[in-house]
Amino acid sequence: MTAALYALRNGKSVLVLEADNFGGQIAYSPRVENFPSIKEISGSVFADNLLEQILALGAQVELERVLNIEKTSSGFTVTTEYGKHDCKAAVIAAGVKHKHIGIAGEEELIGKGVSYCAVCDGAFYNGEEVALVGDGNTALQYSLLLSNYCKKVTVCTLFDKFFGDLTLVNALRKRENVNIIHDVCLKEFIADGELKACRFDGMKGNPGFVLPVKAVFIAIGQYPDNKIFSSLVNLDKDGYIIADETCQTSTPGIFAAGDCRTKKIRQLTTACADGAVAAVAACAYIDSKSF
Ligand SMILES: Cc1cc2nc3c(=O)[nH]c(=O)nc-3n(C[C@H](O)[C@H](O)[C@H](O)COP(=O)(O)OP(=O)(O)OC[C@H]3O[C@@H](n4cnc5c(N)ncnc54)[C@H](O)[C@@H]3O)c2cc1C
Repeated sequence: MTAALYALRNGKSVLVLEADNFGGQIAYSPRVENFPSIKEISGSVFADNLLEQILALGAQVELERVLNIEKTSSGFTVTTEYGKHDCKAAVIAAGVKHKHIGIAGEEELIGKGVSYCAVCDGAFYNGEEVALVGDGNTALQYSLLLSNYCKKVTVCTLFDKFFGDLTLVNALRKRENVNIIHDVCLKEFIADGELKACRFDGMKGNPGFVLPVKAVFIAIGQYPDNKIFSSLVNLDKDGYIIADETCQTSTPGIFAAGDCRTKKIRQLTTACADGAVAAVAACAYIDSKSF
């Protein structure tokens, strides 16, 4: 949406195609506290404000999943689940998806005790005992949120520490209904249609245990889902889109912005910055062509 903002202000007509929810991942963040000049804001309010901003500038927005982008003689054709759209340049900002643990029963138990989004599903477990698996900022934010209304939150990490911001770690350690267990590995979902418990293996010689919980929230990182673009642009070995300083990909006219591209820091500020850079480059590309 930041790319749309910059392209609109550059006088271009812009179509934003979104498969799921406008705002992407940040809409699921209960509290954003690291966006410059905004001390604190809910992710969904941040996303809504940005959507409102681009709509006011004349963006056309559609809830349509992109299936393919093809080069044509005059630009590109974007095929979606509902039709085709022609454009002169495109910015891919497809983000990342939640990683799954990959143990038996996981897919079947989604919505029945296994969740990847505490913002979406946490309130269903008001007053219950839940587990959270993960050690980064998302895991920390989710644990804090869950501890606001769950009876007990057991936070399980694979290594002996957290890898997120110290302020979040310190805030979590102060919560009385949070139990942190390091050096454990989730091995099994115990269920009878719905999740009943999780079995963990202890690492470094520690004993394993079974944790009775109504829900387990999994926040173990993300992966790029760029396969549909693999014949159009070069991807790195992990599947992220390779783009240069101007967000230009291996195909002139196709730009990549945000978490979907090869980069070190995947955050709101860097995604927005990419959006601005990619849009300005895309506008310059269009202006340089005699379409
Ligand atoms: C719980 C949580 C909390 C976070 N908190 C913070 C925070 O406090 N501060 C911070 O800086 N960052 C935070 N982040 C990270 C931040 O949200 C991301 O870095 C940022 O949203 C990346 O933006 P993006 O536009 O690149 O990708 P995304 O936000 O992933 O958006 C990509 C969008 O593309 C859509 N899409 C994907 N494929 C297609 C397709 N084929 N067709 C159409 N649409 C498609 C997706 O539906 C999605 O809406 C948080 C992330 C999470 C999950």
